Amino acid sequence: MKDWSEICKQGEFWLTKVKIVDPEAGRIFEGAVKVDGGLIAEVREGAFAGEGKILDGEGLHLAPGLIDLHVHLREPGYEEKETVQTGAMSAARGGVTTLCSMPNTNPICDDGSKVAFIRARARQAGLCRVLPVGAITRGSDGKQLADLGEMHDEGAIAFSDDGWPVADAGIMRRAMELSRAWDLLIMSHSEEASLSRGGQMHEGSVSSRLGLEGIPRESEEIAVEREVRLAKMTGAKLHICHISSGGSVDIIRRAKAEGLRVTGETTPHYLLLDHSHVSTYDSHKKMNPPLREKIDQEALVQGLIDGTLDAVATDHAPHTEIEKNVEFAYAPFGVTGLETSLSAVITRLVEPGLLDLPAAVALMSSKPAAIIGVEQGRLVAGAPADLVLFDPTERWTVRGKETASRSDNTPFEGMELTGRVRATFLAGRPVFRRYEEDGESRESFTPNLAKEAAIA
Ligand SMILES: [Zn+2]
Repeated sequence: MKDWSEICKQGEFWLTKVKIVDPEAGRIFEGAVKVDGGLIAEVREGAFAGEGKILDGEGLHLAPGLIDLHVHLREPGYEEKETVQTGAMSAARGGVTTLCSMPNTNPICDDGSKVAFIRARARQAGLCRVLPVGAITRGSDGKQLADLGEMHDEGAIAFSDDGWPVADAGIMRRAMELSRAWDLLIMSHSEEASLSRGGQMHEGSVSSRLGLEGIPRESEEIAVEREVRLAKMTGAKLHICHISSGGSVDIIRRAKAEGLRVTGETTPHYLLLDHSHVSTYDSHKKMNPPLREKIDQEALVQGLIDGTLDAVATDHAPHTEIEKNVEFAYAPFGVTGLETSLSAVITRLVEPGLLDLPAAVALMSSKPAAIIGVEQGRLVAGAPADLVLFDPTERWTVRGKETASRSDNTPFEGMELTGRVRATFLAGRPVFRRYEEDGESRESFTPNLAKEAAIA
């Protein structure tokens, strides 16, 4: 197998014989893409007869690199779970080229220097663009607003106290009013804690049978409703994180019909799993909000199909084996997701014909890009050459032990998924590849340390 990095080193090359998945145009066509200086220089339809340095795409599908709006990188403070470096490797392995990092590290990312630290770490890793989300309140304690302006100056892309809700509606109101000064995005972890406190899983028939404390849907829905009303009151740009309940989809549908600037994401685990999967007390099925019922799953899918929900994000939340390998009630909330998101979406939405491939890819590229206002996520001339090369038909079995993340708490352990990433390009360089050599599957990571790979 030719070393692609060598070919790409000069900066200019053609990636040929690919099926181009254009999420904005909503179509797939055979063609070639010219990359130059970290950008897409040309997208050419049809058989390629040109000259220059060539990478043979071998008939694989090519889409914009994925954009994940919701990732916990754990650094600083919880490096035993994940670091920016290992999180970026995990992203590259999953075809993710831009991610938003949540602020619930230790210390909390609540001032400009902490935003700058994460960005510097990401530049050193050179495997994925990392856009830090700054905390809404100092220490995410819900009491005093953090300096949003200073964090914005250092490159914070949005604000959230994710991990916890902002319990005080007055503080959320002020954060939304402030965010309007820069037209920045507020990302809401929507949870009414007085209803969810002590809860371990979705409140329903399974929680009763297992004897576990429940978290009712209303805990999420009441909070989503509050955020929507505050967004209407302030005119803020609001994004609802990790939607698990069908009722929340209805609230967002109404908000959009009213013309409010409200968007929403759900996650692969809510689409593929439900509360019955908790029956074995498997702590790898424990996250917050929890896996709900089939009826919620169907409402989430419908929300993605009709455009009520805008994005699929992972809520990648690594935890060590020691932490997770305890009685269900003592295990922390959270599962990993960066390396399985594309496959999960193909398996759940594309394979059964609920969405076509460009529409599914849009939920993980062009649509999240529009939410945070970045130029990535498009497969057109002039866009950054952040690309994912994948086989949408390859079937594989998820094995947590094979992950590039520091933690292996995948909720999909042992599941067979369809669609697999073969290569990921960041700013025109292949940062991850999976290939066959001597009959064996091999993987390589090659950081792109060029300035084009850093966040502008
Ligand atoms: Zn959250």
